[in-house]
Amino acid sequence: MERKMEDNIRDPETGSEAGGEDPLVGNVNKLIVIPPGYAGVPRRGHLIFDACFESGNLGRVDYVSEFEFDLFIRPDTCNTRFRVWFNFTVENVRETQRVIFNIVNFSKTKSLYRDGMSPVVKSTSRPKWQRVPAKHVYYYRCPEHRRNYVMSYAFCFDREDDVYHFAYCYPYTYSRLQHYLGSLERRNLDYLQRELLGLSVQQRNLDLLTITSPALLKPDREKRVVFLTARVHPGESPASFICQGVIDFLVSQHPVARILRDHVVFKIVPMLNPDGVYLGNYRCSLMGFDLNRHWQDPSIWAQPTLHAVKQLIVRMNQDPKISLEFYIDVHAHSTMMNGFMYGNVFEEEERVHRQAIFPRLLCHNAPDFSFSSTTFNRDVVKAGTGRRFLGGLLDDTSYCYTLEVSFYSYIAAGSNTPVAYTEEAYMKLGRNVARTFADYYRLNNLTGDNKSTSLSNSILDGQSYRQGNSHGIGRNPDGDKAERRIHGNKGDY
Ligand SMILES: [Zn+2]
Repeated sequence: MERKMEDNIRDPETGSEAGGEDPLVGNVNKLIVIPPGYAGVPRRGHLIFDACFESGNLGRVDYVSEFEFDLFIRPDTCNTRFRVWFNFTVENVRETQRVIFNIVNFSKTKSLYRDGMSPVVKSTSRPKWQRVPAKHVYYYRCPEHRRNYVMSYAFCFDREDDVYHFAYCYPYTYSRLQHYLGSLERRNLDYLQRELLGLSVQQRNLDLLTITSPALLKPDREKRVVFLTARVHPGESPASFICQGVIDFLVSQHPVARILRDHVVFKIVPMLNPDGVYLGNYRCSLMGFDLNRHWQDPSIWAQPTLHAVKQLIVRMNQDPKISLEFYIDVHAHSTMMNGFMYGNVFEEEERVHRQAIFPRLLCHNAPDFSFSSTTFNRDVVKAGTGRRFLGGLLDDTSYCYTLEVSFYSYIAAGSNTPVAYTEEAYMKLGRNVARTFADYYRLNNLTGDNKSTSLSNSILDGQSYRQGNSHGIGRNPDGDKAERRIHGNKGDY
């Protein structure tokens, strides 16, 4: 009961929708918000809100005053527990019209809004996403909304003909992915294959990319496989930019990319939850499942995309010619800074050391990736995640990680100032992830390039690793940064 009250938030003060038994199930559709009691024809300045588009999310708008509006996130489809992602447009504005938008029904309390995060905005005449200045954003407990946490931001419209678009973070839609994959296919690269691995409940594509040199795909060849998935959580759009960065690098003519293609098979599922992404959900599928809690027993009808990916991984694991060496599931994090990883906990110390190598290498390559935030755990609540499930399924030569990146910012080495992520910065992290595989395999003498670098020595020699449930692993909190200063960054690819 308590849950229900909380889920169907109504503002008891304004009472504009009294006694609401109706949960917020749809998005607002070109909703004109006019002042109560106003009887005339809608005028310019009576804002029109819309979220009836791909990945759109806005469930309700309440007029507070001429200058202030309460906005309600539409909960995930079939699961009202999750209300974080928003994505909507506003038009019919007056030039110099100032407004305060209050997002009043977040399901989370901890938020990066306290640390300077702000919504992103673009408009018709300025189509590049920007972040709203942090000084115009407030995050606080609001007595008028059941002491819920409210994020308010002030905004000044400046062009009457513009449609303004606001979102929780840079959107990356299902259609955008389809266009991107289509453009890749049209390049006719002999080292790239796109397959339809299955369909979602609403019959959207579950795409699978295979990137490797054709010679490696011959049946008699032994194959080392790196498997990457993203967007199991649909609101975590930064994961798609990372994933695209990985793909862009792997299909490029960069010499490191060529070496990787000659030695490794990359299998990439860029969007594990296409329905959720399309619908503008934050965490769940169409039917309200958090797919990253169903790896143990996915149903073919209720979780078909997860079922298909799991089947493929299980089949590959049984193939004696295939060595599945990495599984990385890409996510975005709503309360942490930087990129970082979650890994599994093992009994054998040697395996613990080996598991730390990839994140350590990534920390050297990516200024925004933090090894000290990387943690290794075995929480019961994470048992249904891809990382945990596959960590148990695959043998001890495989590594399973969750790669997380902040929805907001990173703090680079030698600095204390957070740098807000851009779309490009997320993609750059993806490119850095890709090239880190080259360092990893070079370290393991598998790419024919046996040069022992100072980097590899520092990774392998005389370092003490610790293992813990939540304390991370490493020598000291700044160990990774100190190390990076010694060796320098190797530049960006
Ligand atoms: Zn996630």
